[in-house]
Amino acid sequence: VLLLENCYHLHSPAAMNPGGQDVWVSNGRIIAVTETGATPDGVDRNAIDERIDCSTCLVLPGFVNTHHHFFQTLTRNLKAAQNAKLFDWLVYHYPVWAGINEEAVRLSTTLATAELLLTGCTCTSDHHYLYPPSVNADLLGVQFDSASEIGIRFAPCRGSMSRGASQGGLPPDEVVQDEDTILSDSLLAIEHYHDPGAHAMRKVILAPCSPFSVTLSLMRESARLARAHGVRLHTHLAETADEEAYCLEQHGKRPLQLMEECEFIGSDVTYAHGIHFSTEEITRLAETGTGVCHCPSSNMRLGSGIARIVEMVRQGVPVSIAVDGSASNDSSDYLGEMRMALLLQRIRYGADALSAEQVVDLGTRGGAAALGFTRSGEIRPGWTADFAIFDLHRLQYAGALSDPLAALLFAGHDHSATHTIVAGRVLVRDGKLQTVDEEQLFADADSAARRLLERAETSR
Ligand SMILES: [Zn+2]
Repeated sequence: VLLLENCYHLHSPAAMNPGGQDVWVSNGRIIAVTETGATPDGVDRNAIDERIDCSTCLVLPGFVNTHHHFFQTLTRNLKAAQNAKLFDWLVYHYPVWAGINEEAVRLSTTLATAELLLTGCTCTSDHHYLYPPSVNADLLGVQFDSASEIGIRFAPCRGSMSRGASQGGLPPDEVVQDEDTILSDSLLAIEHYHDPGAHAMRKVILAPCSPFSVTLSLMRESARLARAHGVRLHTHLAETADEEAYCLEQHGKRPLQLMEECEFIGSDVTYAHGIHFSTEEITRLAETGTGVCHCPSSNMRLGSGIARIVEMVRQGVPVSIAVDGSASNDSSDYLGEMRMALLLQRIRYGADALSAEQVVDLGTRGGAAALGFTRSGEIRPGWTADFAIFDLHRLQYAGALSDPLAALLFAGHDHSATHTIVAGRVLVRDGKLQTVDEEQLFADADSAARRLLERAETSR
């Protein structure tokens, strides 16, 4: 039994009073939330293995990141693409990314999940869509191994690209695969790795990359395959005005119309970004229960626009928050991303449009729902024991504690969690990762990134 003791502020629907509570954890689940000092029925105090003093801490459900491209951690901040918008940025990066190998996927998965854990994120997706023909390894398996080594809850996508430049797509032919390979590999991924359980550590999502990098038949067949096996669907949509122009020119339809045609819409579908939706399209998302993964930093970095998140939330569109790939953020700072979401929406809608509490809800419960975790994202008995814990007795929060939850988003410059707990395991303790040698990881990732860039420069 793990005891989170005497929480200074507990953000939980089960907390009668947000302060002075204990959270009891056993076998990866929350078993009770009690007043400090009380013992829940059926629990022996002698069974407590570990106590964490939370008397100066804000205790939250772990954050859930719904969109990322881990491999991009090795190609972030490249000078030639720092000031490019999406399509130019992609065209520059594709040949660099073509050099990724098994080792790069392993390292970048560890690196991205390490950064996420350090900023309070306990569960994440990853949208990996690069399968170079030279790499003869089960890359999704490599990612699951890295994720389970570090300990994070993981729901990656089997991403895909099938429409190369010779077929009118944006990516070069060398980084796309044929449809049969993608579909048979997607099926294997579901059969090998997907756990449908509410407390699963692993789920699989199918995710053709975007309307400009896959064929419409792959979109449709992926949707059918996912539904036949009860897994969720994901893609990039309505990210840029260029994408909208591309869809109109190639298919005579707007991006969402195309997705409707491909049956790629519904309560089992999420779209990354969702910036350029019309008012009618937002209503359609709400009617169908289709989700949007909001990536504010990436949208600012690439100048893509401001998503209409406030309107979506008001209409009941399921919204979550994501850091997006590290070549467009360029960090996996989850708490920082929630702050960005809060501030960016205010530029479009004014200061009363979205509260800190609403943003935290999107980053926790909203994220868990988007990835198909039905018992994650809240601190409640019977739910997964995933927590983000922040010590508020720090200079950066002094003077801000009349509202401890909002202090986390409005104040502070260091977004490091004090403790991050996944399935009852303390993975970050006193701000330090417990399952990774940070110095070794830095050295390995730094040299892998250099090799990737050198390879691309030689072949350019
Ligand atoms: Zn993305």
